[in-house]
Amino acid sequence: MNVYDSSRMADVMKALGFEQTSDPQEADVIIFNTCHIREKASEKIFSELGRFKPLKKQRQAQGRDLILIVAGCVVQAESAEFMDRAKFVDIALGPQTYHRLPEMLRRLEHQRQQRLMDVDFPAIAKFDSLPSANAQGVSSFLAIQEGCDRFCSYCVVPYTRGAEYSRPMREILTEAQQLADSGTKDLMLLGQNVNAWHGEDDDGNPSDLSRLIEKVARIDGIERIRYVTSYPSDFTDDMIKMHRDIPKVMPYLHLPVQSGSDRILKKMNRRYTVTQYEDIVLKLREACPEIALSSDFIVGFPDENDCDFEQTMDLVKRVGFAQSYSFKFSPRPGTPAAAMKAQIPEEVKTKRLEALQSVLIEQHAQYNALFLGKEISVLLESKAKKEGVLLGHSPQMQNVTVKADESLLGQIVRVRITKTAATTLDGILQE
Ligand code: SAH
Ligand code: SF4
Repeated sequence: MNVYDSSRMADVMKALGFEQTSDPQEADVIIFNTCHIREKASEKIFSELGRFKPLKKQRQAQGRDLILIVAGCVVQAESAEFMDRAKFVDIALGPQTYHRLPEMLRRLEHQRQQRLMDVDFPAIAKFDSLPSANAQGVSSFLAIQEGCDRFCSYCVVPYTRGAEYSRPMREILTEAQQLADSGTKDLMLLGQNVNAWHGEDDDGNPSDLSRLIEKVARIDGIERIRYVTSYPSDFTDDMIKMHRDIPKVMPYLHLPVQSGSDRILKKMNRRYTVTQYEDIVLKLREACPEIALSSDFIVGFPDENDCDFEQTMDLVKRVGFAQSYSFKFSPRPGTPAAAMKAQIPEEVKTKRLEALQSVLIEQHAQYNALFLGKEISVLLESKAKKEGVLLGHSPQMQNVTVKADESLLGQIVRVRITKTAATTLDGILQE
């Protein structure tokens, strides 16, 4: 979601006549986009800002300026305190107000000594007043839903992103068309709770995510569709059918389970049981046998004992994941779980995370090994560091490297897999 927001901020700046650069020395404005989900991510901004302090001072000494803008959930969560902590920042804004960047930059120009902050929640206005979207490359993100009403006890999202909001279908289809027109072939639909998306079609018929995707699939140029992140108990049979029936929907699903213990799921305020999760997986695999499953896990949630943790390990072994993300529980200020008794010592969290990740990595490697010798279709998306090698993704979202000419960038090609590891497949281009 943050990558998407950054690209939309780039769209806003472009409309003002700015050009994007990856070289800070060249920049007149630097925008930092921040994440508050875990403490580690959240603290990054302060060390990053420290790195740019000398550059700002140097610019000021030369009589020009470097405008530093911080956006995102850290600003939203820390509000006024953020400005006190980050003395060099000119503008700070939350994830719902970046459409107001032009106005804030204008105000700054008139009153150079001012520092500005905007952490409102005008969710609807944001999407209404953004300029047209430019493709982020051959693969692009498109936010269709924002915010969350689930209030999992560990999570900051409902506080930083605000209440759940579904963008209207027409607006989404227009943006998808703009992205297709500017070169997007692979579209990732985004939402904190993406399968809670709901809306109406042009005739006023109520629509859910499967209906929306059916419409997106009709856009010429869009060849591959994915969506992230799905909440297990909102995963309907219509979604399962969609995977079976719409070829453009890729056989990949990120369906975070978080824990394999019903006791912990309850404390997390996740509204499903392990059995319900596995039932969805079963039905999905029946409908779409080639589907790759991915999940998030949190270890060391308050009061998680060895038996709860073993249940997570068992679930992993039963389900078999192609990809995953796993984290130590990070107490976030203001969330119920941060105030729970029986917080787990850091060394126990570390041990559990290591144990879980070693099983998961092994599992990812085994999954990828199934592709050895197979011919698959790969969308070539970027150049690898190594000369003459291109990077792309398989339908199952595996990273694939292949020796190929640059002129093939942006094409879907056939590749025979010759080598596999836990995080990549290497292959040879097929004529
Ligand atoms: N909406 C998605 C998750 C969005 S946050 C869902 O419900 O699955 C992305 C991931 O960050 C979560 O799935 C969770 O695994 C992790 N996460 C969120 N808050 C966390 C915290 N306080 N500590 C550790 N991991 C956390
Ligand atoms: Fe956070 Fe996801 Fe739970 Fe919403 S559903 S509160 S985004 S973890």
